[in-house]
Amino acid sequence: MTVTASKTTTEQLLRKYAFPITLLVVFTLVGLVVALLRSKFIYLFLFISLGSASAIGEWVTLQFPKYKQIFRRTIQAAVGGGLFIGLSLFHNVNFQFSELFFDLYAGVITGAFIQFAFARLFLPFIMGNAFCSRACWSGAVFELVQPLNPKVKTPRYRNEWIAFTYISTLIIISSVASYYYNPAIFETSKRWWILGENLLILGIGVFLSCYWGRRTYCRTFCPFISVSGLFSRFSIFKITPIDAQSCNSCGKCNRHCPMLVDVRAAVEQNQRISHKSCILCEHCVDACPYHCIELAPKFPWQKNGNTANQ
Ligand code: SF4
Ligand code: SF4
Ligand code: SF4
Repeated sequence: MTVTASKTTTEQLLRKYAFPITLLVVFTLVGLVVALLRSKFIYLFLFISLGSASAIGEWVTLQFPKYKQIFRRTIQAAVGGGLFIGLSLFHNVNFQFSELFFDLYAGVITGAFIQFAFARLFLPFIMGNAFCSRACWSGAVFELVQPLNPKVKTPRYRNEWIAFTYISTLIIISSVASYYYNPAIFETSKRWWILGENLLILGIGVFLSCYWGRRTYCRTFCPFISVSGLFSRFSIFKITPIDAQSCNSCGKCNRHCPMLVDVRAAVEQNQRISHKSCILCEHCVDACPYHCIELAPKFPWQKNGNTANQ
């Protein structure tokens, strides 16, 4: 009896702290791989620092769930701000999508590719689009400006054709631009390019947020989530119904979702949220008055649980 009780307590603790533990392990392992591949141990230090900061933030959040969103935004501002100011502005590392093509044509591998491969191709299999709710500086700004226009009446849903057209246009523009003037080659003017490109994206995103609701740029245009969203459905961590029977279909989860995911429908069918736009921000979790859902892992060897996709 005592052994069973202690096993249950350990399992509960592991489940509760699975997210910060996984963050730390993943960042450390990836840092090690990147450091070995690039023969620069600064990457190990960088990844461990980011992973530790994020894991500590998530751990603190679990101690004070009432202030979850404040902590999450603080983590996002700290990690995202650190990446943008520390690496982009001071070390000329452009993390924007266009840089992938500038680097490709210049024949170099920079932080743009490392970030893309880690956050958009690898991490989605473990933590979905969590980069968007915990590390992206643009997303942090879009959330910050939302109170400017809280009564958005015409939210714009994700449209795959718009997203596809946008990412294709970006690829074409980046390719043509790099033929005439490749910022990856002209180091002296690169900082101005980085500043200009980021300000342009922020300006468009803030403008769209004010008219069509929170994070319109994210769910409608952003090329990064168009890519990571392809893999996030396989994520180990997802928003998961833990007590679907208690759901009274009030719809609060839907109203609080910045990405306009139909959380209610999934809970009613006792399904995990596998929508490609879900950024694991947990607004829906906090909004639910009956604690029907939580952010939880389901490892490949776990047979039980609700796995259907939207
Ligand atoms: S969707 Fe794009 S802009 Fe929005 S938070 Fe994610 S990476 Fe940033
Ligand atoms: S479904 Fe929940 S976690 Fe996902 S984006 Fe919407 S509010 Fe955030
Ligand atoms: S907020 Fe909770 S109770 Fe209301 S619809 Fe969503 S899951 Fe159901």
